Amino acid sequence: MKSVKDYIISIPDFPSKGIIFRDVTSVLESPEGYALAIDELNKLLDGVDYDLIAGTESRGFIFGAPLAYMNKKGFIPVRKKGKLPRETVEMSYDLEYGSATIEIHKDAIKPGDKVVLVDDLIATGGTIQAAAKLVEELGGEVVKMIFLIELTDLGGRKLLEGYDVASVVQYE
Ligand code: IMP
Repeated sequence: MKSVKDYIISIPDFPSKGIIFRDVTSVLESPEGYALAIDELNKLLDGVDYDLIAGTESRGFIFGAPLAYMNKKGFIPVRKKGKLPRETVEMSYDLEYGSATIEIHKDAIKPGDKVVLVDDLIATGGTIQAAAKLVEELGGEVVKMIFLIELTDLGGRKLLEGYDVASVVQYE
């Protein structure tokens, strides 16, 4: 039987020299690969008590939304600045290839809400840390962070010390 790793294509020197890009579009293109990825991510939520799933733009939507649907939870899109129509809170952060600002709707999370954060991949952890800060600014509690892929050498777990972090597939 194939594992999730078998569906991930690694592209050397993308987007710049020396970087190995882990491409998940090949996972999504395969009905078996996509289903397996969602099922494996869902297993990481076993026993977790939560109210909402928040996914970071854009691949966090692709993995987070099916999980929210399966588990009958609401889905919160964490978006790049300027896309959300209502009042937002925002956070700027550094990422592996530059910097960015993300936002969520101010009324998306109520104090005490337990939130699971989802993204396709964790590298330095900067993106998900910024998303966690937004959740916390609104009084929510980040109870779990889940990723399809973890790049273990980039120190994401260290940055996210204190959070419950889990991933399906790991690369050094
Ligand atoms: P971080 O903020 O450094 O943890 O970077 C994670 C973000 O960058 C995620 O939203 C990923 O989608 C994206 N990213 C970084 N490296 C890769 C990669 O090799 N493949 C796919 N996405 C990546």
